[in-house]
Amino acid sequence: MAHGVSTTYDSLPRPLSTAAVIAVGSELLTPFRTDTNSLAITSRLDAAGIRLLYKAVARDSIADITRAIADAAARADLVIISGGLGPTADDLTRDAIAAFAGVALVEDPALVAALQARFAARGIAMPEINRRQAMVPEGARPLANPLGSAPGLLLERADATIAALPGPSRELVPMFDALVESTLAPRSAGTPLVRRVLKISLRAESAVDEIAAPIYLPYEQHDPPIETTILAAPGLVELHLQCRTADTAAGQRAVDALAGELEAALAPACFTRDGLNPEEALGALLGARGLWMATAESCTGGIVAATMTDVAGSSAYFRGGIVAYDNAVKMSALGVPEDLLRAHGAVSEPVARAMADGARLHLRADVAVAITGIAGPAGGSDAKPVGTVVVAATGLDRERVRTFRFIGDRALVRAQSAQAALDAVRRLILDL
Ligand code: ATP
Ligand code: MG
Repeated sequence: MAHGVSTTYDSLPRPLSTAAVIAVGSELLTPFRTDTNSLAITSRLDAAGIRLLYKAVARDSIADITRAIADAAARADLVIISGGLGPTADDLTRDAIAAFAGVALVEDPALVAALQARFAARGIAMPEINRRQAMVPEGARPLANPLGSAPGLLLERADATIAALPGPSRELVPMFDALVESTLAPRSAGTPLVRRVLKISLRAESAVDEIAAPIYLPYEQHDPPIETTILAAPGLVELHLQCRTADTAAGQRAVDALAGELEAALAPACFTRDGLNPEEALGALLGARGLWMATAESCTGGIVAATMTDVAGSSAYFRGGIVAYDNAVKMSALGVPEDLLRAHGAVSEPVARAMADGARLHLRADVAVAITGIAGPAGGSDAKPVGTVVVAATGLDRERVRTFRFIGDRALVRAQSAQAALDAVRRLILDL
């Protein structure tokens, strides 16, 4: 069954203004897996100036994938399919492309040889099912996959350009990067998107907007105009600046100028204009200063340590952390004096300070942060209601000790506490 216009190769290559993404995989229709490949694809389309019209998720069924391709090819210039290129019976993207185009699947001898060589290099014979991966819809061109066995596919048609990429993102991303550079970006008929992301710690969205709006609103009338979006996450506010312009250099200058003004107005709460996560920004700062960090966590139970070590290379500046949930551990592992605990309670500034000092000393760090608080739902009192959290950062002959009253459920209180801890260390180091 052939869909749409017949292929006229003399009009190719066609310009590309719009795209649609199809994520293939029945697992993406369950509560257990989410399509993230399309995010990587979208950021690259934005940079190339190809506008994403919509995304779809198709289950592993030839009919469903074929229909999704037909819809996408009717609406967009470029159809990008992710997944379903593997060797197993539920990998049906190849078959669906052939069905959509009304062409046969033909074995490509060069691909068979390459697959056999790939297996031979690992000292095993190629399983017969992998032959499926050497099947190419007539008229399509295989795309090299240096990191996996599944080659991609590119089919140029009069109605749309169709690209199929493997599902594992470590294979998909380099293959798509190569395709964008060699084939898609040169044919882009649109204007690239220039973007900058600023992030601000521990401020309310409305408080940030009150400062930021008078600065960014005039830029909406600017030439080129800059669009600003404000987003909030626990303990964080993000400002996304974007500008679509043919003159990428002018767009970049305009976005940089706005980012600079916003950063100055929001300092010292603004910790990045490059879209870094708080732990990446803090890690870079620790690394640049040659400082070691340690943590002492009570109510966050290790979230700060886990977050810091999410960053590859964190062993160069993160010593470790102690989860001192019980008061006995605050005393034994961190050396918090019993008198202090008795006099002020575990959730108090003197105890938080002593926890940070203890972690710094015991873990031989230059700076340490301690978190002690009441995450709830139980454990609150009139004097210290649920959401009361003390964060203390000490080191470099300075300290920052602050008591917060966070709002929200247990998870939200803990997430905000972790953000407050990262922010306290950053400000301690910068002496802000
Ligand atoms: P394989 O040869 O590994 O089977 P494939 O091209 O057939 O590759 P799939 O079988 O669809 O790809 O998916 C393989 C794996 O890639 C999935 O288990 C999943 O982890 C990941 N994956 C697939 N699609 C997506 C997606 N849209 N977003 C994020 N991850 C995905
Ligand atoms: Mg598969």
